[in-house]
Amino acid sequence: MIIGIDDTDSKNGMCTTYLCAVLVDELRKYGEVLTPRLVRLNPCIPFKTRGNGAVSFELTVATRKEETVKEVVKSRVGEFSELQEEETNPGVVFIGDTALRAISRRGSDKRNEHISKLKNFYETAVRDVLKIEHAYTLLSELHFDYFGLKKKRGLIGALAAASFLLVQKRDPNYYEFTYELIAYRRKERWGTSRVIEDKSVWNADEATYPLTWDTVDLANKKLVLAPHSPCPVLFGIRGDSVDAIYKAYKLIQAEPAEREMLFVTNQGTDSHLITDEEAKGALHDHHSYILDGMVESNPRTIEGGHVVFALEFAENTGGRIECMAYEPTKGFRDIIRNLRIGDEVTVYGSFKNRTINLEKIKLRKLNVEALSNPKCAKCGKRMESAGRSQGYRCKRCKTYSSEKEVQIVDREIDEGLYEVPPVARRHISEPLIRARKQEGIGNIHPSR
Ligand code: ATP
Repeated sequence: MIIGIDDTDSKNGMCTTYLCAVLVDELRKYGEVLTPRLVRLNPCIPFKTRGNGAVSFELTVATRKEETVKEVVKSRVGEFSELQEEETNPGVVFIGDTALRAISRRGSDKRNEHISKLKNFYETAVRDVLKIEHAYTLLSELHFDYFGLKKKRGLIGALAAASFLLVQKRDPNYYEFTYELIAYRRKERWGTSRVIEDKSVWNADEATYPLTWDTVDLANKKLVLAPHSPCPVLFGIRGDSVDAIYKAYKLIQAEPAEREMLFVTNQGTDSHLITDEEAKGALHDHHSYILDGMVESNPRTIEGGHVVFALEFAENTGGRIECMAYEPTKGFRDIIRNLRIGDEVTVYGSFKNRTINLEKIKLRKLNVEALSNPKCAKCGKRMESAGRSQGYRCKRCKTYSSEKEVQIVDREIDEGLYEVPPVARRHISEPLIRARKQEGIGNIHPSR
C-alpha cells in the first residue's frame, strides 16, 4: 500500500519527514518499505510551515494487515502532530492494494485517465494553489481511503506526495528527482543548539561536490545543511548520487543521530516554475514563473539592501513588472546591479504584487550600445544639441550632424545563467551545477 502524509508540524517543532522516518522504521515489521518520497510543493503557499514538504512511502503488506497498518499510522500521526498549533492540520492518504490494482491494471483507458488525474494533481500542487475540495473529489473518485485531523488540509500534500510516488512507480524517470539523506536528533536534544563539527562538513563537501550540493555556501562561508528551527532534523545531505551522499555522511562529525532516512525527492529540480508559454500572459500571485523580457529601468538598491529593476515583457504577455533580488541573496545582487536598460533577460522566480522574487536570471543579450552626441569631424570634441529634433552642431567649427553616435559599452558581466547562492535557495530550486549537462543550457555561472 502507499501512504502519503502532510501537515503534522509547526514552526515550534516536529517535521513531517521525521514522522515518516519513524513510521517507516516501525512498519518494517509488516513488510518491505521502499525509499520514501519527499516532495516539495508550491513554495509560495501562504500556510506552509517552512519548505512546503509532504511525504509518501510504499509498504508491501498483506491485504489483511492493511487495517492494522492504518491504525499504527493514525495513532502515530495523532501522537506526533503539533495539534495545539492552529496551522497544523494533518492529512493522511492510504492507497490500499485494491485501489492500487485498479489503477495499475494494464491497458485500460480508465487506468490511464486515473494516472493522468494523479499526475495533474501533483503538478498542480507544485505549481498552483489547490482547495481541499479538489483533494476530496479525487480521493472519492479513486476510492482512496484517508484520515485527517482538524481542518485536514494536509490531505492536499498527502495526496500529492502519494501521486508522485505512484507516477514514479510506473515510470521511474517521469519526474526528475534527486536524493536527500536526513539525520534526526535524539529527542532529549530537540530545541537545543546542534552540535555539528564545521570542518568535517567542509571536508565532506569538498570530497563529494558536485554529486552532493547545497551542503555549504562557499561564497558566504556558511553551512546550509542544518535547519535553525527546534525541529528533530539534525542535518540533510542533498545530491544526485546515493553513494556520494553516504560518503559525505560518513565524513561529517556531529552529535549522535537517533536515526537516518534516505528520501527520493523533487528538490533541486525547478518543478515549480511555469514558463511564459504555459502562463499565456496571465500572471497570478503565489505562482512561480520563467519569463522572457527586457530590462526597462536601471537597477537600484532600495531600503533593506534589496535590488530592483523593471522588466518589460516580450510580446503577448504585456505589461511591466518589478524584479527583486532580496538582501538575503547576497552576492547575486551584484549581478543584478550590473544590468542596464535594454538587456534581454529571462527571469526565474515567484510572483506576488506584480513583483518577481528572483531565484535565477539568464542574461540572454546584453545591451552593449550607448547613444551619445556625435564627435565633430574637425576638432574631435562632442557636438552640442542644436535644439529639439534639430540635430547636433559644433559651435566652434560650425559642423553639423543629424544623428547621435552609437558607442560600444564595456560590460562587467557575461551573458548566461546566474543563480542565488545556497543560503538563499528554495528547496525545490535547481542549483545550476545540476543543470550543467542539460542540452542547450548555454553559459552557466554557478554561484561557486
Ligand atoms: P515542513 O516543510 O517543515 O514539512 P511545510 O512547509 O511542509 O512544513 P505544512 O505544515 O506541510 O508546511 O503546511 C503546508 C500546507 O499546505 C499543507 O496543509 C498542504 O496540504 C498544503 N498545501 C501544499 N501545497 C498546496 C497547494 N499547492 N495548494 C493548496 N494547499 C497546499
